[in-house]
Amino acid sequence: MTVDSNSPDPWKEARALIDAPGGSVNIAHEAVDRHVAQGHGATVAMLWLGKDGSRRPLSYGALSDASARMANVLTAHGLTKGDSVFALMGRVPDLYITALGTLKAGMVFTPLFSAFGPEPIQTRMEIGSANVLVTTAQLYRRKIAAWRDQIPSLKLVLILGDEAPEGCVALDPAMAAASPSFETVHTEPEDPALIHFTSGTTGKPKGAVHVHNAVVYHAFSGRHALDLTPGTIYWCTADPGWVTGTSYGIIAPLVNRVTMIVDEAEFDLDRWYATVQNEKVEVWYSAPTAIRMMMRSGAEAAAPYDFSSLRFLASVGEPLNPEAVIWSEKVFGQPFHDNWWQTETGGVMIANRPGMAVRPGSMGKPMPGIEAGIVEHTDAGLEPLGTGKVGELALRPGWPSMMRAYLHEQARYDKCFADGWYLSGDLAMRDADGYFWFVGRADDLIKTSGHLIGPFEVESALIEHPAVAEAGVIGIPDETAGEVVKAYVTLNPGYQPDATLEKELRGHARKKLGPAVAPREVIFRTTLPKTRSGKIMRRLLKARELGLPEGDISTLETDES
Ligand code: ATP
Ligand code: MG
Repeated sequence: MTVDSNSPDPWKEARALIDAPGGSVNIAHEAVDRHVAQGHGATVAMLWLGKDGSRRPLSYGALSDASARMANVLTAHGLTKGDSVFALMGRVPDLYITALGTLKAGMVFTPLFSAFGPEPIQTRMEIGSANVLVTTAQLYRRKIAAWRDQIPSLKLVLILGDEAPEGCVALDPAMAAASPSFETVHTEPEDPALIHFTSGTTGKPKGAVHVHNAVVYHAFSGRHALDLTPGTIYWCTADPGWVTGTSYGIIAPLVNRVTMIVDEAEFDLDRWYATVQNEKVEVWYSAPTAIRMMMRSGAEAAAPYDFSSLRFLASVGEPLNPEAVIWSEKVFGQPFHDNWWQTETGGVMIANRPGMAVRPGSMGKPMPGIEAGIVEHTDAGLEPLGTGKVGELALRPGWPSMMRAYLHEQARYDKCFADGWYLSGDLAMRDADGYFWFVGRADDLIKTSGHLIGPFEVESALIEHPAVAEAGVIGIPDETAGEVVKAYVTLNPGYQPDATLEKELRGHARKKLGPAVAPREVIFRTTLPKTRSGKIMRRLLKARELGLPEGDISTLETDES
């Protein structure tokens, strides 16, 4: 399919991928009910793999019934269109049912990562004016009960299972009593559907508002960035607490009528390899942090498994080091295809698409219908830059899944737009063939002796060394050079963090990058600070290095000062 950017309605053809009965666009209808109405009720929508080894298939029909019950439960408690429903739980079927039921009822869904502590949960529920929370008894007692009364908007807490703490409602009996039919609430394309909080890599997380019409782009990009077609066996490893786990872990796959694998468990090498093999996964969407963990265990760990079912592999969230692309081709017989997007964009914007020749280290080319540019900020406004030049990655707004607001942060939102561009805050370069190359986040750029250095190229050079598993690179102030490059690395098994290795790594980087760009110092760590969505938090490495305040660390996962 092509998208004619010059047409007054470039997304017209993509809209044919959805049903939109009577002009209403509702994500849950497009994801589930439409397929049931078209006779696909028995197709497996979701194959759930429990931590305990259980395996539970849910058909499109079952998802349709359960989400209708959920919508009835919400409505029976007096909630109406536009109300705000938060979910806090692991990757269990109820999470997916809650998401779809909320959308069916015309309410706005916000998933939170269950590992968040009480403070980040409370802040986000305040920002999102939560009316409903769906969670487990354990999470409620540990993380919510103490401050629940401080959220005046909160009217209902639904607890998974048969019993609920005081002041809450048990979900299972309510679901059992509810009717499995519900007439989907009429939602307009521009009605809000989802709120996603950004990862908090660069600062305080923002609540990005997305509308029902986003489903047009989810359908389109699921098809054209991830090769999802009816019947595809697809596994997105992201948690719905992050945008990837919702856009491409719920909506895009269901709209494209695939069978999606949902694994309740966290990363475990053998479990992952066995899942790909045993469930015959065809399309696999993951993230660099997981891929680097696989690399750390070596090709030998993958050797006993049969990966012949795989037909397309994709990665998002952080730059994918060229080494990882080459490794995956060797081990899985397929390269991971890097793609780039953000919470704000709601869907994949730049991608190594199916059928395109992958350039290791490049995030690919803009999706059909997406105009991307590299721009420079000048006194006269934004200047588009030519090929080979590093500047800010910008997009022409107008695609259906673009955020419509940052909740309660109009000024921050307005700052994202200038001269007809949406500014991503990332720096990149476009080559002569139209491939885009990620350089770094604008905040992470290092200025040393007149050079501008993106941490990604230094990190990628370091992880090419057999000893290095992961690297995080920052600039630290220096009187003569302005800034100097400093690297933090974690090591592969079997390597000793000693002075000899430090020297060797600096030498290796110097050879690859030249003396101006290579790190002056390499520090060994057992972990790097990361967000719960798996992104290295360079700002934290820097704050700690310089003894500065750490800022918002609500999304921090691994921690080692
Ligand atoms: P915050 O905006 O709160 O600081 P965040 O930007 O990490 O957090 P997300 O929206 O989850 O929040 O992540 C989007 C960012 O992740 C992009 O702006 C980019 O910096 C990075 N990213 C995503 N995919 C890629 C990729 N393929 N290559 C390089 N960077 C990527
Ligand atoms: Mg961001």
